[in-house]
Amino acid sequence: MALIVQKFGGTSVGSIERIEQVADKVKKFRDAGDDLVIVLSAMSGETNRLIDLAKQISDQPVTRELDVIISTGEQVTIALLAMALIKRGVPAVSYTGAQVRILTDSAHSKARILQIDDQKIRNDLKEGRVVVVAGFQGVDEHGNITTLGRGGSDTTGVALAAALKADECQIYTDVDGVYTTDPRVVSQAQRLDKITFEEMLEMASLGSKVLQIRAVEFAGKYNVPLRVLHSFKEGPGTLITIDEEETMEQPIISGIAFNRDEAKLTIRGVPDTPGVAFKILGPISGANIEVDMIVQNVAHDNTTDFTFTVHRNDYQAALQVLENTAVELAARKVVGDTKIAKVSIVGVGMRSHAGVASRMFEALAKDNINIQMISTSEIKVSVVIEEKYLELAVRALHTAFELDAPRQGE
Ligand code: ASP
Ligand code: MG
Repeated sequence: MALIVQKFGGTSVGSIERIEQVADKVKKFRDAGDDLVIVLSAMSGETNRLIDLAKQISDQPVTRELDVIISTGEQVTIALLAMALIKRGVPAVSYTGAQVRILTDSAHSKARILQIDDQKIRNDLKEGRVVVVAGFQGVDEHGNITTLGRGGSDTTGVALAAALKADECQIYTDVDGVYTTDPRVVSQAQRLDKITFEEMLEMASLGSKVLQIRAVEFAGKYNVPLRVLHSFKEGPGTLITIDEEETMEQPIISGIAFNRDEAKLTIRGVPDTPGVAFKILGPISGANIEVDMIVQNVAHDNTTDFTFTVHRNDYQAALQVLENTAVELAARKVVGDTKIAKVSIVGVGMRSHAGVASRMFEALAKDNINIQMISTSEIKVSVVIEEKYLELAVRALHTAFELDAPRQGE
């Protein structure tokens, strides 16, 4: 008999029919003898609807009150699922985050879990009940309702699994696992049987939307066995594991991630003197803008060009800040570009193989795709390219690293 935490996302509980289907599924596991803690999201679209209501009252709603509103979506689904289980003769009970006592800090809308009281849940499990917990929410030390950031139900699931030392945390969603890349872009993309936490973290940070980044971090830190599965299709899903040895047979690259979230800014003709990078990026971080990739060219005539990327939402603000810096530094000019995309190859296999980056550049060159910026870490290589070549680049790399699924009949 295993203790399993199962998290169902918004589309999996998006209607009464879906909730009934989830109840059937949970009952099957229960009948097989597993102890179950179920974590739910709000019905798909509900959290957005609630945020929209708040925005109709105020552009900048007080975050404490916003959390009171947006935590209600999950309170609805947990009660509905508990009812559906009871209707099927499965004893069940629902709890909000505060009722469990998922203690968080007081950073409304991005709260971090500090501690989980497992007493109530353990008692219920002992008495044979399925426990249904609202994802995405907690309570601070003063009793205020908090939320964990968008997509936060994944984190609730993983945190509960860690606290209860569950045998597995299963994340049920509308895809049947983690893919080598987005199947909407590459039809030959394949489901991965396994991926390491590190790789998953890179994939999530680089734009793959299967799991919330913080949930993966949490699972890696507490070594919670995590599996991504389709809510309503049978299949093994993808196991996210700590064990690199077990995945030795994997290809060098596990996946290709991409995003269109960034914009590029360049300041030309800045003096090539100590402290210039700080003078450029200090005010940017002072404006609370995060910088991702950075390139500084080799100096020529004692001046250099300095380029970096920020989130597209921060582009206008960053441009403003940079224009001011340009005046201060007597730079030649500031240019920006929002029509860029970032494409990354990710794989722990890179550690033990040479020439991975050059193979990437070769594949892009063959399709005449110009690389504007490059950054690397131990297990990834990212490039910035012109946005219109994004899909072409992803397909070329997927083929170059032999990730394409064999075609039917081969
Ligand atoms: N309902 C929340 C959201 O839409 C949390 C979640 O679904 O994980 O972000
Ligand atoms: Mg979600």
